[in-house]
Amino acid sequence: MQRIASGSIAVGILVLAMKAAAWWMTGSAALYSDALESVVNVVASLMALAALMYAARPADDNHPYGHEKVEFFSAAIEGALIIVAALSILQHAWVSWRDPVVLDAPWVALGLTMVSTLFNGGWAAVLMRTGRLERSSALLADAKHLYSDVVTSVGILIGIGLVLLTGLRWLDPLLAAATAVHVLWSGLTVIRSSVAGLMDEAPDSATMERIRRLVNQHAAGAIEAHDLRTRHAGRLTYLEFHLVVPGEIRVDEAHAICDRVEGALKAEVEGLIVTIHVEPEGKAKHRGVLVL
Ligand code: ZN
Ligand code: ZN
Repeated sequence: MQRIASGSIAVGILVLAMKAAAWWMTGSAALYSDALESVVNVVASLMALAALMYAARPADDNHPYGHEKVEFFSAAIEGALIIVAALSILQHAWVSWRDPVVLDAPWVALGLTMVSTLFNGGWAAVLMRTGRLERSSALLADAKHLYSDVVTSVGILIGIGLVLLTGLRWLDPLLAAATAVHVLWSGLTVIRSSVAGLMDEAPDSATMERIRRLVNQHAAGAIEAHDLRTRHAGRLTYLEFHLVVPGEIRVDEAHAICDRVEGALKAEVEGLIVTIHVEPEGKAKHRGVLVL
């Protein structure tokens, strides 16, 4: 994972250098937006790597639940940076709207943008393949994000081609503004996911249904499970619930049921940490996951 993250940083810096050069040669607002999107990518992958390394630290006296939640901080900061980038692009687009730059024969700049877009596309394919192999949703999300950048860049290339063909100079700031909206949207998405994590948002109903089914299948000997709750921290999911068992069974029997349920859940749901509170039948609520 850390090697992939370092690869993303290296590709990001290379692409950024080419896109910055393309903007610097032309002064085009659209190419500025493309370059700034690259800045965001490099900062995001740097922070993702730092968060990955910090989150991997084992739990200690100071952080007995581990360090996974650091990912929500890095996501929040990333989201804020993306929004700043979007605002800067909008401002640049506005200036260029009022006083459009002349793009005369920007062939080197367009060539650089084309080559850097190919690099991005190639790396997105690598991320996609590794993400599928490793079943990492984070890598797949990165790959999708990079593909959407490729689409933006291709749109910008086509747009600048149109500017050159038609001489409509206002197309350039318009393209930049469209990119800004795209960047703003991705920033809000990142912030939303970070807030969801910090607020312990419930998992999607399909995951919850899967957990209920597993408890139901593997808790033979128990009467009921209720008050199921989950929360996330990075790649970890915490699950807790009450398990109602016949009051007269022995502690070691009840514990064996718990271990069986825990084992089945952990085998199915990646990064799951389970806590079960055992209760006698007087505590049954007759709702939740009924075992019998
Ligand atoms: Zn209870
Ligand atoms: Zn135990």
